Amino acid sequence: MSRIDDASGDEVSRGDAERAASLDGAFRRVFAAEPAGVWAAPGRVNLIGEHTDYNDGFVMPFALPQSTYVAARRRADGQVRVHSLFAEETVEFAVDALRPGAVDGWAGYVAGMIWSLRTAADVGLPLEGPGGAPVLGGVDLLIDSTVPHGAGLSSSAALECSVGLAVAELHGVSAEPLTLARLAQRAENDFVGMPCGLMDQMISMLGEPARAVLFDTRSLTPRPVSVGDPAEVEVLVVDTRAPHRLVDGEYAARRSQCEQAAAQLGVASLRALSDLDEPAEELLASLDDELLRRRARHVITENRRVLETVDLLAAGDVAAAGERMTASHRSLREDYEVTVPETDVAVDALLDSGVHGARITGGGFGGCVVALAPAGMLARARSAVRDRYAAAGFGEPEVFAASPSAGARRVA
Ligand code: ADP
Ligand code: MG
Repeated sequence: MSRIDDASGDEVSRGDAERAASLDGAFRRVFAAEPAGVWAAPGRVNLIGEHTDYNDGFVMPFALPQSTYVAARRRADGQVRVHSLFAEETVEFAVDALRPGAVDGWAGYVAGMIWSLRTAADVGLPLEGPGGAPVLGGVDLLIDSTVPHGAGLSSSAALECSVGLAVAELHGVSAEPLTLARLAQRAENDFVGMPCGLMDQMISMLGEPARAVLFDTRSLTPRPVSVGDPAEVEVLVVDTRAPHRLVDGEYAARRSQCEQAAAQLGVASLRALSDLDEPAEELLASLDDELLRRRARHVITENRRVLETVDLLAAGDVAAAGERMTASHRSLREDYEVTVPETDVAVDALLDSGVHGARITGGGFGGCVVALAPAGMLARARSAVRDRYAAAGFGEPEVFAASPSAGARRVA
């Protein structure tokens, strides 16, 4: 059985307990000591609202049952030792020497989170410990994860948030989830060097069972929303396993194109335009550059599709909500140009198999597709996608059903 199948929706707490027990044993083997606790933070799937979060816009992700787990204890010598069962490697560094560039590779996400916590006051997000400002010292960390890596399901935010919660709680710091999310985003932006928005870290911290979260990234307000009665609607995810291509540079290029478009249109962010009533074409008419116009059109129409989807789901019109998701895919394919043949073929196969709607999810250039489907059609959708992939000569995809699950939490 694959790790993904292991972590199906309603088995999360049992999964947590089992994972905590096995992590406890692994921690003893690696560090020859007992962990003080085990923490977890989930990956996510975004239903709709893609590439909007760094434009002050709307997103609507939910937290997956698949999570990253961290067993941890404090150390007195100011050293961090971190071992990942996935990377099969232990990395060691001194907390005092932490600054961007000091640690790279997978451990950069961990080091970046600790650096971000230690310097939280510098960005106006001071943390409070039992005796005032905390002094975050050394730790031993053992990491395991059921979130597929680099698949667009946000294993990076799961890693940052699980480590952030573990290190904060080990030092008696109880920070607001949104504060930890912002510090995790800062770790990824300023330490790892990935200019992501706040969506992934927000949902990893704030996810809740049975609810997606509509998040306004301008006001930073989360609003839980129901995706529908699980007896009637189901969310399916296709991990295309397509190799990521050019991800870092292309993502940063999209972000900078949006900033250029906003500057030329004289607005602080493209969100300011999606709030207006005029059609996108009219709002963008003064933009000379055709590429910038398409990029901005995606962001404006996508923000509107998110809000429409929320209303349609509330009204129980899942078919129309699905159409918005499919329209989102089209926009991401044609205007934003972040899809690849594997995601496009998966969307077509899913639509032909009878889902309400389907779209690429996550940053793009590979990764996953998400579909809103009538309940009970996982097997049909899976074979439809597999057949189409075989015919196209693509590798075997993973297709699974996902239900909204808990955000970051202590599990032992
Ligand atoms: P995504 O967030 O969609 O999974 P990213 O490229 O943003 O993709 O992040 C993936 C990277 O995060 C991995 O290449 C690795 O460096 C790091 N990572 C995530 N989970 C783990 C883990 N359990 N152990 C070590 N590194 C991890
Ligand atoms: Mg990521």
